[in-house]
Amino acid sequence: MPDRTQVVIVGGGVIAASIAYHLTKLGWRDVVLLERRQLTAGTTWHGAGLITSAGMATETLVWMARHTRDLCVSLESETGQATGFRPICHLHLASTPQRMETLRREAAFVRGHGVDNQELPPAEFGRLIGRDALLAARTSSAPKRRLIQVLVEDPEPILYGGEPVLRDGRWLGSVRAGAYGHTLGGAVGLEMLEDEAGLPREAVDGVRFEIDVAGTRYPARASIRPVYDPDRLRIKS
Ligand SMILES: Cc1cc2nc3c(=O)[nH]c(=O)nc-3n(C[C@H](O)[C@H](O)[C@H](O)COP(=O)(O)OP(=O)(O)OC[C@H]3O[C@@H](n4cnc5c(N)ncnc54)[C@H](O)[C@@H]3O)c2cc1C
Repeated sequence: MPDRTQVVIVGGGVIAASIAYHLTKLGWRDVVLLERRQLTAGTTWHGAGLITSAGMATETLVWMARHTRDLCVSLESETGQATGFRPICHLHLASTPQRMETLRREAAFVRGHGVDNQELPPAEFGRLIGRDALLAARTSSAPKRRLIQVLVEDPEPILYGGEPVLRDGRWLGSVRAGAYGHTLGGAVGLEMLEDEAGLPREAVDGVRFEIDVAGTRYPARASIRPVYDPDRLRIKS
């Protein structure tokens, strides 16, 4: 045991081991780790080894989870020591509406930071076993709900909200919010479309819909992206 050292880390759990690893990675050589019993003898020994995005309410936590996952993947080639890590997906279950709301908010937050996730109705859990199934589901299933914008081609009508939206004469939703787009020269509506058969991008984006305004149907161009400044060039300039 040295009588002098630059750093002493007390404890031999995953946190202490991680501090020692990252310090030496940064070039620190004079690092001593003291464990009273045996490495990983504490809580770390009980850990199930799950690396999840559950409860990641800050960008820092998401970053730490992602860094840990990447490290678990690369450690074997770096050290020769296998971690046993398997990159599979995991399920979060909600049994109350309140819990569902919490999970939806968490999911939206981590999705914004690049963590892949998908909401499934209970009946579809059976088919979702593993990461490959998640990837297949994502590529094969079109969303059944989509929030879109439409621009009414005729400059006359005004949208107030509640007007039916139709495609090929079939009702798919209604205008949730409407306003007149003076720059675009027509009324613009925000709609939530619903179709059990699925709403793939090509069935919506750029497609001609009809808006029923007080009994008259007006052609309208649908867009998944905002109809005004879709690349946000003006707001960024
Ligand atoms: C049942 C269970 C399942 C879990 N599953 C997961 C999971 O799936 N995913 C996940 O991310 N987390 C999980 N956790 C939580 C996770 O295991 C802990 O958060 C983590 O292991 C804590 O690590 P640590 O290094 O802080 O503490 P510890 O692992 O407890 O390490 C502390 C170490 O310090 C030593 N020590 C204490 N005092 C001294 C001293 N004076 N001198 C020298 N050494 C000392 C102890 O002997 C011990 O080895 C789980 C926890 C439990 C209990």
